[in-house]
Amino acid sequence: MIIGAGGVGRVVAYKCAEHPEVFSEILLASRTKSKCDEIARAIGGNRIQTAGVDAENVPELVELIKSFGPKMVINVALPYQDLTIMEACLETGVHYLDTANYEPKDEAKFEYSWQWALHDRFKEKGLLAVLGCGFDPGVTSVFTKYAVKHHFDEIHYLDIVDANAGSHGKAFATNFNPEINIREVTQKGKYWENGQWVETEPHEISAMLNYPEIGPKKSYVIYHEELESLVKNFPTLKRARFWMTFGDEYLTHLRVIQNIGMASIEPVMYQGMEIVPLQFLKAVLPNPGDLGENYTGWTSIGCRIRGVKDGQEKTYYVWNNCSHEVAYKETGTQGVSYTTGVPAMIGAMMMLTGEWSGSGVFNVEEFNPDPFMAKLNTEGLPWHEAHNVDLEV
Ligand code: NDP
Repeated sequence: MIIGAGGVGRVVAYKCAEHPEVFSEILLASRTKSKCDEIARAIGGNRIQTAGVDAENVPELVELIKSFGPKMVINVALPYQDLTIMEACLETGVHYLDTANYEPKDEAKFEYSWQWALHDRFKEKGLLAVLGCGFDPGVTSVFTKYAVKHHFDEIHYLDIVDANAGSHGKAFATNFNPEINIREVTQKGKYWENGQWVETEPHEISAMLNYPEIGPKKSYVIYHEELESLVKNFPTLKRARFWMTFGDEYLTHLRVIQNIGMASIEPVMYQGMEIVPLQFLKAVLPNPGDLGENYTGWTSIGCRIRGVKDGQEKTYYVWNNCSHEVAYKETGTQGVSYTTGVPAMIGAMMMLTGEWSGSGVFNVEEFNPDPFMAKLNTEGLPWHEAHNVDLEV
């Protein structure tokens, strides 16, 4: 059962539908049923059933889960719904997977504490919850685990580098849900160094980094949620950072949006009605799901790692490049949704085929990376690696 029919939900539905041997029956449920119906029609072949559901309403979710009887829920709605969906999974005895950690609506705060707190309850019920199984978080954590397993005795420095070198032809648009995206990129920067978190002003640290097939792009250190679980699960890390590219135009728009108060999540009264500025802004910005048609160029996301192997210092770079155009041709949506939806499907496949198993709440780097890495190559996100190269960071 897939919850959420946005750009990512669309890709998950497409990719699951391609594998009837694993996903024999699929229900796509979301707040607006018509969006599910449109996706089901585009996929065709009666592969996808649809339903409307408010994923913040546990009894409603429980009823729907009971009526369909799925083995697992793939949550690609919004981070606000993580806890209610997990609660419904616990009540109905169903496994769970998501791509973004829970966030309270009234505070832009990304952390795993709320979901990790459910570990014992999932464990007692013999259920598995896999957190953060998109690209970043998701593939970046699997990449890190793969490096640790095959190429290092210890890793010391990790820099996750995320470039979107695509062009959608709009003056300003976000590549996924604008509310979540703007909350993420306007917060203070934060990275891990020598056993503690170092906070920076937003976009304070930047560098020109070279991305394969793309070239140099200005990249900024921002906080990203996988850092929290990676430094916990790989305690040999002396430093862990996350870099993302932003164009000057994008940052200028963002600054203006913030300066005029449109990024605020504090409700204001407007003509007798309470509105949240950032949610209103979302309503007037381009829909990320509609960017695909004219999107050209590539995304490039990878991990640059320094550590030791057999007493020698070494470096390693593992990455994927994804073409927006190819993603659109296959699934009708752009590369950012594609790079998130494909790993979510692969993670669900790992769970349903028993490659990933256990009871409790886990992050993806706690599982065997090998079968997942093999599927990336065959499901549309092939990866590349380079040893002992200049990491630039
Ligand atoms: P969209 O905004 O396009 O889609 C979200 C979907 O969730 C919409 O269909 C929306 O319904 C539905 N939804 C929202 N609230 C509810 C609710 N209360 N009940 C039921 N359905 C609801 O987002 P994306 O597809 O771009 O992103 C989906 C998720 O993927 C997000 O959590 C995002 O953070 C995550 N993500 C993860 C990445 C990664 O690499 N790990 C990268 C990019 C995204 P409606 O259509 O009615 O609004």
